[in-house]
Amino acid sequence: MANRTNAVDAQHKTAYPHYQNSALARTKVNPPKLLVFSDLDGTLLDHHDYSYEAAKPALLQLFRYNIPLILNTSKTFTETAELVSQMGGFHPFVTENGAAIAIPENYFNQLPEHDEIAEDASGHRYFIKRFGRSYASICRLLQQLRRTGEFEFRGFQDMSAQEVANITGLSLEQAQMSRKRLASEPIVWESGDLELFKQKLKLQQLIVIQGGRFGHVKSESDKAAAMHWLTRCYQQQSPTQTFIQVALGDGPNDQTMLDEADVAIAIRSHNGQHRLNLGNCRPNRIYTQRIGPAGWQAALLRVIEHYVPKERYYG
Ligand SMILES: [Mg+2]
Repeated sequence: MANRTNAVDAQHKTAYPHYQNSALARTKVNPPKLLVFSDLDGTLLDHHDYSYEAAKPALLQLFRYNIPLILNTSKTFTETAELVSQMGGFHPFVTENGAAIAIPENYFNQLPEHDEIAEDASGHRYFIKRFGRSYASICRLLQQLRRTGEFEFRGFQDMSAQEVANITGLSLEQAQMSRKRLASEPIVWESGDLELFKQKLKLQQLIVIQGGRFGHVKSESDKAAAMHWLTRCYQQQSPTQTFIQVALGDGPNDQTMLDEADVAIAIRSHNGQHRLNLGNCRPNRIYTQRIGPAGWQAALLRVIEHYVPKERYYG
């Protein structure tokens, strides 16, 4: 029995650097718990058909070990909530590139800090934590800037759902969901000094994140900041528990999240390239061989295998 205990301790020390270094190791409390933060498009969802079918084996393992899957995406609350209810396992999620967090009602024992309450299509209630200005306030500020006559641009609020559908290629229903926003506004730039525009936004603690067709005007909070904020919620809920952040992403807006997570998984893009550089000094970095959700599941299965203690029965 003593040998078995030593073997388990040795296993923990190798697998969990936090466990080895922390005071928790000496008190032998629970092994660390994984928190999985994942981008959607091109990461958990296939770039072409938006399917997460290829990721299902790892999704099942997350459910099996009760590991929270926290979607961290540029999508809106309505779009993400629909995916969460399809996948099952209601956990918090991050929307609009880190601008807002949605926490299911009764998820944490303590009422989380929040700015408003939202409901998904099935009536599930979420507490919404917003970073920086509200959507209405951002839109008002953009109107003021437009009225100076120095800049010409169009935002989602200036377009009908049909126009958004035409520009993005989304269906009309999807376009409607992407127009319901909490804390960021996509804009199409038409003319004017973009650098001056960015400077004026910066004075209001706003930035522009460049996407494919749109610039997204939002607070300075990014996916990494939202990841840390939520990790602190888990930590408050379980003060003696150590958490390991596992982050998965494929694009530039995932870079800081992967840089600052304990385990970083860069997903190979649909064109076969890796768009993220995880640097040379990070101890826990993974580049997937496979593309999108197939890479997501292969890498995550390895991480679960490595970090989650298994009970084995013999004889
Ligand atoms: Mg992506």
